[in-house]
Amino acid sequence: MSRNANVEKLVILGSGPAGWTAAIYAARANLDPLVFAGRAKSVPSLVLPGGQLMQTTEVENYPGFPEGITGPEMMAAFEKQAIRFDARVMTDSGEPPNLDDDGHMYQYQDAARVDFSSRPFKIVSDRDKEVRAHAVIVATGATANWLGLENEQRLAQIGGGVSACAVCDGALPVFRNQVLVVVGGGDSAMEESSYLAKFGSKVYIVHRRDEFRASKIMRQRVMDNPKIEVIWDTVVTDILGDQAVSGVKLKNVKSHEETELACRGFFSAIGHTPATEFLKGKLELNAKGYVVLTDPYRSLTSVEGVFAAGDVADSVYRQAVTAAGMGCKAAIDAERWLADQGVE
Ligand code: NAP
Repeated sequence: MSRNANVEKLVILGSGPAGWTAAIYAARANLDPLVFAGRAKSVPSLVLPGGQLMQTTEVENYPGFPEGITGPEMMAAFEKQAIRFDARVMTDSGEPPNLDDDGHMYQYQDAARVDFSSRPFKIVSDRDKEVRAHAVIVATGATANWLGLENEQRLAQIGGGVSACAVCDGALPVFRNQVLVVVGGGDSAMEESSYLAKFGSKVYIVHRRDEFRASKIMRQRVMDNPKIEVIWDTVVTDILGDQAVSGVKLKNVKSHEETELACRGFFSAIGHTPATEFLKGKLELNAKGYVVLTDPYRSLTSVEGVFAAGDVADSVYRQAVTAAGMGCKAAIDAERWLADQGVE
């Protein structure tokens, strides 16, 4: 395969920790990567360039930041580092992003469609701009599922004590010795409530049925923890509080009884949805929509020359640091594969 001037060596889809890390490594390896960073929307949305960290307040578990750093600050630093090494980003104007302008992300384009059935691969943006590429790294991430309540979104966006990641946020001072609520009945809800019980004074798990789907061992750990109490057959109908969570409204789905429970933190643990809708039929996905890696230690996918990194291919760890590590692996895999194809 020879290098054609109109064909990109490497296109990276996504701009979370995996996407920008892949861009940093690929740019430093002279692959001149082009990043589809995603489309920022003017209406509140949980899908943004920068990924899930754009909705996170303090990040305290990413090594190298002993005082912590906010999620948006961290992603701005990743982006700046990638662009410093000449990673390019697809923008509406076709001009490089002006990082001094806070609104520059509104110029970024999303990948709307791909064609991996023939080479070079085709990627079409949400503004119908078509790009061809020898190799692609998919790093479009996943979004946490939320109940969809208006106050849930509002309080999550202002750092008011609503989170979809206890491991990321649970140790923050605001949750220490407080009553906390977790929603869900799967392994995540078990894991998150056990974790939160280390910090909170009391943790309530609110579950919509009368049994958990979580594995037996994780269920048992929760039931044995004296700080955790389960509220069965119940849904959260609202989250109370202006600037910070002060409680939740509950409704028993069997008796229809409505009650309020005072709490200072609300954690959604009802699963994640990978951003792979546009990849259906193009790449092998598992039953939950995550990209299948053909070797769990590598970044290779069902299509040779297409690599995947970060939460889009990881339903287990879902951490910024693991996503960044996967982005690094994908860039190295892509670089080696391109070299084997004679694209340097
Ligand atoms: P999950 O297994 O899909 O469970 C989601 C839970 O949220 C279910 O209990 C579901 O209730 C509930 N739920 C979904 N939508 C809801 C809604 N709108 N309102 C209220 N409740 C809702 O997701 P997960 O717990 O995140 O786990 C995902 C995968 O990761 C699983 O394969 C899991 O085993 C794995 N995981 C493993 C570990 C570990 O081994 N350490 C830790 C975390 C996750 P229903 O049960 O009624 O459907």
